[in-house]
Order: sequence, then structure tokens, then C-alpha cells
Amino acid sequence: NKKPKIVILGAGYGGIMTASRLIKSNTQQDAEITLVNKHNYHYQTTWLHEPAAGTLHHDKTRMEISSVIDLKKINFIKDSVVEIKKDEKKVILENGEVDYDYLVIGLGSEPETFGIPGVNENSFAIRSVNSVRLLREHIEYMFASYNKEDEKHEDILTFVVAGAGFTGIEFVGELSERVPELCEEYDIDPKKVKIYSVEAAPTALPGFDEELVEYAMNVLESRGVEFKINTPIKEVQDGKVLLNDGEEIKSQTIVWTTGIRGSSIIEDSGFETMRGRVKVEKDLRAPGYDNVFIIGDCALIINEEINRPYPPTAQIAIQQAYTCSKNLKDLISGKEELDVFKPEIQGTVASLGGKEAIGLVGDRKLYGGSASAMKKIIDNKYLFQLGGVPLVLKKGKFNFF
Ligand code: FAD
Repeated sequence: NKKPKIVILGAGYGGIMTASRLIKSNTQQDAEITLVNKHNYHYQTTWLHEPAAGTLHHDKTRMEISSVIDLKKINFIKDSVVEIKKDEKKVILENGEVDYDYLVIGLGSEPETFGIPGVNENSFAIRSVNSVRLLREHIEYMFASYNKEDEKHEDILTFVVAGAGFTGIEFVGELSERVPELCEEYDIDPKKVKIYSVEAAPTALPGFDEELVEYAMNVLESRGVEFKINTPIKEVQDGKVLLNDGEEIKSQTIVWTTGIRGSSIIEDSGFETMRGRVKVEKDLRAPGYDNVFIIGDCALIINEEINRPYPPTAQIAIQQAYTCSKNLKDLISGKEELDVFKPEIQGTVASLGGKEAIGLVGDRKLYGGSASAMKKIIDNKYLFQLGGVPLVLKKGKFNFF
């Protein structure tokens, strides 16, 4: 009697927590479990705005998979997924292939460009350790370059962040904290530096509480950030952003944060998607594929109260991992009735750099220091869920005051 094979694609929040929960429930006794990931480390996507701006070292946001997952209990393959052959129950990797009886897809997201020309070619993204390390180096290089030439080019010190959603605002927060340090280090007058936050919607942080949005904008404006709200971008060219209203902003650093779509592998593998995400069944399985679970940013679930999709968050990815691992265990032990996934939104906190943040926890609005402390508690809580106290002590955030 051969054990069924469970294959998990991606070791982000959704994938690694699924692996961790399967081990906790001893599922490896009844199934052969394999985790596939591009890198031999897990990184925390929700922290990436910090290493992107250089306010935190990127090693703080990542950890070796072997340090949090017992690789005696499951197999780990370090490789990139190329295609899912769902009808043959097989996954094609860059350097091989794996077959499965049950599949979990947690491959995360890609930047949404809305078809705007030039975005991929001419802008930076905040999506992985590799992409943010490059962005941080580039920002420092801009500061280092400025004083080199006799003729000063202002675009070298102009930073454009496209999209004032959560990621854009959190990055602008970190960058505006980092700029004074960089100016000091590279002997540059802070007045020469410009940071633009450009947003197509009529407000920054669309969908968020108005008072909190105003607070956030005031904090960032006081650090010199210039908002261009209600201002769609028409095109991104090498060294400039063209706005719908005809204006252009010259900049050597354009950072694209206008939202995400699901990993293109899913669409390319023939799943039906909306913005690259699969509208999953209530038990998190893909429609028509009873042996395929899709979680995290690759999955679309509807908030029935407002009849709109839940925004893609780590919070939901982690909660889905709990339901997904339970459902896998149940399926393997022959149960037919699976658990229904129901997100419990515990709160949303956006950091604004330094000790500033805003948040909504239950009905409570949080500002400044208390919101910033809450953000760190949330970050530490995840580390605790994944690796217990030792991981919190190793990677946690403790600079509360
Ligand atoms: P991810 O965590 O992105 O993991 C995907 C994994 O798949 C990665 O490890 C990647 O290496 C791997 N992978 C991708 N492609 C391949 C491939 N082809 N082959 C093999 N492996 C592959 N959410 C919150 O809840 N709260 C927040 O405060 C918050 N802040 C954020 C701040 C920033 C700057 C950003 C960018 C996002 C933030 N989010 C936040 C959103 C959150 O990070 C995502 O919703 C979450 O990471 C989704 O988890 P996931 O498991 O689907 O994907």
C-alpha cells in the first residue's frame, strides 16, 4: 500500500504554514509530503518594504527552510515551478518534475501592471528578497552618484512610488525615514530629494478609514513626501513617468506598487482565473479539481457581506494554511466532508516608518506609537506560530519604544 503524495508549491506564508501544520498533525505518517520552493529560505513578504528602503537588513526577513521545517519528516526540493499539468497530476520544474495525488498551490503574486506600457521594463518591484536587495542598492547608488558630476541631475534624487495602497505607503514611509540618513552619509542637502506617491484612485489607501488615511498622509507630508492623488499613470519610460494629465516626472527610481495578480503559472497552466487568482471553493479546492488546493495570493475568496473579493493578505494566507492542512488530513483519512474556510480579520496595521503607523483592530483606530507597537506584535506572533519562542527571539522585533 503506497502512501498518497502531497506536494506543496511555494514556501511563503501559505505554503510553509501548510507544511508546518501537516507535520504538527503527524500527517507524514500517512502521506509522503514534498515542499517545492525557488529558494532554500522562507521570507516574510510583509516586511519587504523595510529592506527595500534599507531600514532593515534583508537577512532579518528570511530564514532557512530547514531551520523551521523538520526535513526528516518531509522532502524539500529547491527548484522553480514552471507548469502544473493538472490532468496528469504532475508539476514541471526547471530541473525535473514531481507527481502528486494532492497538490497545494501557494506560489504568491506578481505585480499588476494593468497593461500600462513600460512598467516591467522600467520599474522596480517589492516582491522578493532579490528584488528588494536590488532596489536598496540602486537607491544608495543614486545618492552616491549625485555629487560625482559637475552638472547635477535632479532626477537622480527623485523617487516615484506608483500606487498609494498598503505596500506603496509602507515603502514611502520607510524611504522618507531613510532619506535623512542617506543625505547625511552622502553629503547631500535633503531639499534636493523628492519623493512622489502617485495614486490613480481618489484617495490614498483606498478602502481604509478616512481619519487614518489623513493621519498617514500628514505624517508622510511632514517628511517631504508629495502626493499626487487621482492621478493615473499613462506610461513608464526609461527615466520618466508620464501621467494622464500630460505631466511627466523625470526619475531614475520608479517603484511599482499598484497591487498584485496571482502567479502567472496558474493562468498558464489552464486554471480559470480573475487577475491571475482562482476563485476557490469554500473548502479551498480549485473548481473541478478535487485534489488541488489553492491558497494565499493565488486564491480569490469573496467577502459576502460586501460582495467583493477579500484583499490578498498574509493574514488570510496563514489562516487558509490551517484549513487547508486540516482538509488534507481529513481527505487522506477518507473523510468526505471538508471544513469551510472563513477568514477572521483581526485587524490591519500599516507602518509609516520609524515609530509611526496606523491601524484598525476590531473597531479601534490606532495611531503612532501604539499602532507601531501593534505591528511588531503581529510580526512576532507569526514567528511564534511558525517557529515558537526560539524563532521570535532570533528574528523578532523588540524595539517598541
Ligand atoms: P508569498 O508569501 O509571496 O510566498 C510565495 C512563495 O512562493 C515565495 O516563497 C516564492 O519564493 C515562492 N515561489 C514563487 N514562484 C515560484 C516558483 N515558480 N517556483 C517555486 N517557488 C516559487 N499582508 C498582511 O496580512 N499584512 C500586512 O501588513 C502586509 N504587508 C505587506 C507589505 C508589503 C511590502 C507587501 C509586498 C505585502 C504585504 N502584505 C501584507 C501582503 C502579504 O505579503 C501577501 O498577501 C502574502 O505574502 C501572501 O502569501 P502567499 O503564501 O500567497 O505568498
